[in-house]
Amino acid sequence: MEDKHMLMIPGPTPVPEKALLAMGKHPIGHRSGEFSEIMGKVTAGLKWLHQTQNDVLVLTASGTGAMEAGIINFLSPGDRVLVGCNGKFSERWAEVCQAYNLNVEKITAEWGKPLDPEAFQKRLSSDTNKEIKAVIVTHSETSTGVLNDLETINRYVKQHGQALIMVDAVTSLGCVNVPVDEWGLDVVASGSQKGYMIPPGLGFVSVSDRAWEAYKQAQCPRFYLDLGPYSKSAAKNSNPFTPPVNLIYALQVTLNMMQAEGLENIFARHQRLSAAARAGVEAMGLPLFAPSDCTSPATTAVAPATVEAEQIRSLVKKRFDIALAGGQNQLKGKIFRIGHLGFISDRDILATLSAIESALLALGHDSFQPGAGVAAAAKVLP
Ligand SMILES: *Cc1c(COP(=O)(O)O)cnc(C)c1O
Repeated sequence: MEDKHMLMIPGPTPVPEKALLAMGKHPIGHRSGEFSEIMGKVTAGLKWLHQTQNDVLVLTASGTGAMEAGIINFLSPGDRVLVGCNGKFSERWAEVCQAYNLNVEKITAEWGKPLDPEAFQKRLSSDTNKEIKAVIVTHSETSTGVLNDLETINRYVKQHGQALIMVDAVTSLGCVNVPVDEWGLDVVASGSQKGYMIPPGLGFVSVSDRAWEAYKQAQCPRFYLDLGPYSKSAAKNSNPFTPPVNLIYALQVTLNMMQAEGLENIFARHQRLSAAARAGVEAMGLPLFAPSDCTSPATTAVAPATVEAEQIRSLVKKRFDIALAGGQNQLKGKIFRIGHLGFISDRDILATLSAIESALLALGHDSFQPGAGVAAAAKVLP
């Protein structure tokens, strides 16, 4: 059926009709008073979402651009950085650092397992000369469905006293608690096509006062992603370059929706969706990829043993027009991922699980009671 596509991938995520309609308006001049007023409201909403008084800067970029900006504005070539690597995105931040000739030290964990905070503690406490300038952590590693223990890792960074903490919060912000000020997170990057419920195109970076101190000495080359001009403009509810005006309209709408729902309710909804997805998948006899005590509320990774992950995914797409995500890099063909962040409700999870059940039965995986997946999920949903 036409126009019945359902996005259940961890970005881009579905966009509420109100936000789409807002984007259908004529753009207005980005130097107009009218636009400044919108920017002012959007900035206040972003600070609310980040639970911070810090600057939250808006870039026309994807999440990677936001993260790159967050790294290069506060560091210099040769600086030692500790990068937690346990999936595709966290590996990417090590690559960005290498591209700018930073001195990269990785703390790794197997893909599908969480980073060990004690490994950070060990390395940071041995750094008596304070050579480590930054610790870079991907909070929710979307490629594997693992939620890293940012709170504990960050505590060790604070004990170090010098290193900045830089966080990829692309699929954690707006899904799970990321209290930027309470935890003292220096740089937090995110992107519009995830928890923000709007289309791809905007990147966000929050910057602490400590990071701005480091900015004064930082020597990495930068121009478009130089956050200094963004900060100066933001103080005047403006932008150094032409922003995607229509995406900002949409953002204003979804920030209002988020404020009406409330942070606690948003986090609780993501926990519920994640718990229902996991219960449903397990009841169908499909193994979960990430351990259940560190699973990301944004996405559930499934590693089928007796059916091909790609066969399930393509059948669900063909018969039900529901998009699931595949595995990336070495996980290609080994896992599929259900995205459940942003504009996703209980109904979406039930529909997706029943589509997966139908596909499994059609593929001859019938070692479970038909309906067991949906029944298990329904039990979790109040
Ligand atoms: C989506 C995502 C990104 C950003 O990817 P872009 O394609 O650059 O928007 C970064 N980190 C994580 C964990 C993500 O899920």
